[in-house]
Amino acid sequence: MKTYVLKDERKKELEVLDKALEKIGRKELPYILRVQQAILKAVDEYMYKKEITRIMPLMIAPITDTLNHDVEECEVKYEGQKFDITKSMIFHKQIMLSSPYLDKIYIVSPNVRLEQQEEGDKRHLFEFTQVDLEFKNADMDDIFEFEEGLMKYVFDYVKKECVDEFKALGIGTSHLDISIPFKRYTTQELKAKYGDDFEERASAEATQPFWLINHKREFYDAEDLEKPGTYRNYDLIWPRGYIEGLSGGEREYKYDRILTRMRELDVDEGAFRNYIQLAKDGKIPKTAGAGFGVERMTRFVCQQKEIDDVTVFTRKPGQTYLF
Ligand code: AMP
Ligand code: MG
Repeated sequence: MKTYVLKDERKKELEVLDKALEKIGRKELPYILRVQQAILKAVDEYMYKKEITRIMPLMIAPITDTLNHDVEECEVKYEGQKFDITKSMIFHKQIMLSSPYLDKIYIVSPNVRLEQQEEGDKRHLFEFTQVDLEFKNADMDDIFEFEEGLMKYVFDYVKKECVDEFKALGIGTSHLDISIPFKRYTTQELKAKYGDDFEERASAEATQPFWLINHKREFYDAEDLEKPGTYRNYDLIWPRGYIEGLSGGEREYKYDRILTRMRELDVDEGAFRNYIQLAKDGKIPKTAGAGFGVERMTRFVCQQKEIDDVTVFTRKPGQTYLF
């Protein structure tokens, strides 16, 4: 079947086509991509040295992240079964660690989240990649220590390896001089200090990354049973206004807790029946984990205005997409 396009529409499309080629042809792009490559190389090296097992990502699965905000649905039908496109591999990480032979895993994981366009938004793509890890029998402190070590290793590596790239991009590297451990704040204390836009304001004032602890969000993030209504989860906030770069948490893993949290958040238990079954059989281990966005890290490292500045093809909500 032939596709016909109206003349005016076609004219507009050709303008977008020019823009798409302009985006690919930016002189900064090869430098940004080289820095991103160095970041990923350093991440892999660090993980390998620390004996974290890398698993390959999945792009479709019968269950995926429930997220804590609405995005457009994105389903694939295959052989009479429904698959979602991966929003994150949180459940696969937990299920994989049911193996008695695996304790620490990570995935360089492409995620599709069909986000709504928001005025002034500089950090959402609807397709991005996260470095997503999960450790068995770990708690928040273990993850903080590991991620701090990882960030330090990565930043030291790119500072050393990417001198020419930073020069070509016309930026310094003082934002990569991080001192660990990072400071920790609760969402409550920052909200009291800065008001509702505390993440933006605290990030804009900060010169070092910091942890932001205790968010009410997905059912799988563990509630602190000694302090009900508080949660053992966290974000890493990039300084200088770059805001959230990583999210994670200790996980709910006990059957009754998972059901309680699912009911609180109105999650479709039917869709999760096999995951729930594993929890009922005691097969979901105690874990904690975190994932950081590769493009957000590249944006921060390369000090770019917005996240889509580090992509080759536009994946910014609210645009026309040709490729
Ligand atoms: P989440 O657990 O949903 O916060 O995702 C983990 C990390 O992935 C976040 O902290 C971000 O760094 C990154 N991320 C999440 N959503 C997006 C998005 N729409 N665009 C770019 N990066 C994202
Ligand atoms: Mg998050």
